[in-house]
Amino acid sequence: MKRNKGKLINSDKRIIGYFTTKNNIFKRNRIVKCSKIPFFMFGVKAFIVPYEIDKKISIPIFQTNEEISYEENDIIAINTDGYCVSLWENNSKHNAFYVTDICNSKCIMCPQIADGESKYKDCLELLDYINLNKIKNIGITGGEPTLEINKLVELLEKIAKKSPNKKVHILTNGRQFSNIENVRKLSNIKNIQLSFGIPLYSNIAEDHNYIVGAEKAFEQTINGLYNLAKYRQKIEIRIVILKQNYKILTNLSEFIYRNIPFITNVALMGLEYHGNAETNYNEIAIDPKEYEQELYETVKSFIRYNIIVDVYNIPFCLADERIHEFCRDSISTWKKGFLDICYSCSKKEKCSGIFETSFIHSKNINPYKEKE
Ligand code: SF4
Repeated sequence: MKRNKGKLINSDKRIIGYFTTKNNIFKRNRIVKCSKIPFFMFGVKAFIVPYEIDKKISIPIFQTNEEISYEENDIIAINTDGYCVSLWENNSKHNAFYVTDICNSKCIMCPQIADGESKYKDCLELLDYINLNKIKNIGITGGEPTLEINKLVELLEKIAKKSPNKKVHILTNGRQFSNIENVRKLSNIKNIQLSFGIPLYSNIAEDHNYIVGAEKAFEQTINGLYNLAKYRQKIEIRIVILKQNYKILTNLSEFIYRNIPFITNVALMGLEYHGNAETNYNEIAIDPKEYEQELYETVKSFIRYNIIVDVYNIPFCLADERIHEFCRDSISTWKKGFLDICYSCSKKEKCSGIFETSFIHSKNINPYKEKE
């Protein structure tokens, strides 16, 4: 998420509100960026100003000299730790509730840098600010959202009450669903359309467990998938491709077809080199160009099995042209970027681009010259 370092004065509490550069007095709960404190303050929750401004007022002030790139009506929070962060981007398709930093797995390629805290309370507050009618699909991510199952139920019930029958996609490792009681709790929520994105990195239990850094994870996830199927829940299988599994992708596709054919779709995903993926770079890194053939064969295999398949986070120039129609513009708006050479590329408009958060990028990125 976008964030800026600064100093919060006149408050010892987190402040949440709508970012604006216009001091419209009819808009409540606004956080106004300005170069000097205006006369009218009605409805203002805080001001964002340069360090030089420290006028004596009772309203909270966040001082920073960093460049602020939030857009009008983005929902932002000013935290007491001196960071201002965007929580919900007004014009993004990729917003999600980040409900927790806590996780029971330790994936070798996890891109999160976590502080190990639950964020459910913040998310419940954030929900009060969001106009859900404008939003088609809601994402829930972490950490592992299901570790605090009752808090997850509370958040989902609040979403269902505020805007009935919304589609909500929950990213989870699925391990908690080996306890069918957890599946039952979620399935009992009324007026909501749930789906679950669950990772499976290998058809061999030991290899999957090694990648996720947890014993019995494979067994728990598979049991969880069967329990979700008993309650007819929609399931997306997410396969991040790394050095440890790129050679067995077609075996994994066959395993999925034979053992969990009730899933709704599969996402094959490129790596984001951040967090653990940066630390373990030498162990896990593989350029998509090096697994181009394997990826093509795997997409073909899922098609043969009549399983819907998409490719996430892999730019066109790193994928076989025969699977370009499966490559999605999948990277969250705030993480998505392009290299300088991309600006001459004829496929840039529809390309997933690259992770700006990755510390390194493929050396094989190569613009298309011809107009499509
Ligand atoms: S050159 Fe850049 S814009 Fe073009 S396909 Fe590659 S990553 Fe995408």
